[in-house]
Amino acid sequence: MGKYLSDFSEEELNGFTQTAYSEDRFTVRGTAPVHMLEDTLGVLELWHGPTCAFKDVALQVLPHLLTSSLEKLGETKTACILVATSGDTGKAALEGFADVPGTRIAVFYPKDGVSRIQELQMTTQRGQNLYVSSFRGNFDNVQSCIKEVFSDENIRTRAAEKGYFFSSANSINWGRAVPQIVYYVSAYCELINNGSLKQGDEFNVCVPTGNFGNILAAYYAREMGIPISKLICASNSNNVLTDFFKTGRYDAERQFYHTISPAMDILISSNLERLIFHLSGNDDKTVTRYMSKLKSDGVYTVNDEIKALLSELFFADFCTNEEAMKTISEIYNEYSYLIDTHTAVAFNVYNKYRESTNDTKPVVVASTASPFKFSESVLAALGVDVGYKGIELLDILARTTESEIPKPLADIGTLTERFTDTADCEALPEAIMRFLI
Ligand SMILES: *Cc1c(COP(=O)(O)O)cnc(C)c1O
Repeated sequence: MGKYLSDFSEEELNGFTQTAYSEDRFTVRGTAPVHMLEDTLGVLELWHGPTCAFKDVALQVLPHLLTSSLEKLGETKTACILVATSGDTGKAALEGFADVPGTRIAVFYPKDGVSRIQELQMTTQRGQNLYVSSFRGNFDNVQSCIKEVFSDENIRTRAAEKGYFFSSANSINWGRAVPQIVYYVSAYCELINNGSLKQGDEFNVCVPTGNFGNILAAYYAREMGIPISKLICASNSNNVLTDFFKTGRYDAERQFYHTISPAMDILISSNLERLIFHLSGNDDKTVTRYMSKLKSDGVYTVNDEIKALLSELFFADFCTNEEAMKTISEIYNEYSYLIDTHTAVAFNVYNKYRESTNDTKPVVVASTASPFKFSESVLAALGVDVGYKGIELLDILARTTESEIPKPLADIGTLTERFTDTADCEALPEAIMRFLI
């Protein structure tokens, strides 16, 4: 991390990470361990943090980076973190920023776009400096609505008069990207230590992708010298990235689907812009041209040089809900290993990669959430049709698979819901202003 965050001393960074990844927050040795299903098939378990999803890895460190930066800069105003979430970012950001001095955090999630467990995780969050509201619209709507607030001079001035400035914890924040690079390095080390790889040998990485933050971190690890061969980009039915990697044409003008992997229900992948920037030889003018086209027409096509690099580095494919469900049950039956709906997309696409390329290099599949977060779909995939949607599902899944409910989810049913507001884009700025007292 120090190579990218040169404003911090090694001592500072060590302090931040020791707190962020302490044993009471990440309940497993090594923070992000690789679980081997076969000699050459590893699962990078990124969900042992306080919210049971991979976003904890970055969002537990980010508040330390932010508050330390504010101190270094002599900032006197309070940072108000605005978050648009498709489910997991919101909870992970709340958990990271709860009661952090000098910060407030407001989270907006699409009303019908998150699982009941995800919703409860957010609306029951404890802490004095936070606000949570649902939103009428899908994730892309919330995200663009929040982006409008960031660029609204009038509301920024009103917030400043009250002693606040706005900041983001979404995955375009560089402090989110950097901590994620680390676990691709540690995964490589683990494969060497357990004998799956010899130092310098190549391996593939397969990542269930939405906003392109996680797989971008793998790309950076590769650029830093980790011998990653292919970056396998797995999408659900919102397969805009699959088409992009195959054709060089990014076309967001398409039907939006609510899938069983809601954290990947995204048509505008914000971090892709960073990849294009690098592949264009860090040519900001080219990137600006593409992004303006995306904004005005919903479509852009990259030039042939970039397209060639895309297909050299990446393989992309997608799978449907039905395919993902089938994959959950196959992996469970074959390995007695339970995966969530997002990880299932990655496994399914990895199988497609193997079939179409016969590439047998070792692979690390990124596992981004605990299956318990998506109990309803996971149970359905196992053939258990329970017929209701509440938190009882956690117990049923635990009993069905003879496994334990992760600690952070175990008591969720006993907590009171603190937030029940719903906003649309028009009402959102005032909801934020009311929160800034
Ligand atoms: C956020 C999330 C993803 C997508 O990650 P990106 O960095 O946005 O590509 C995948 N799975 C889960 C469970 C997530 O929470």
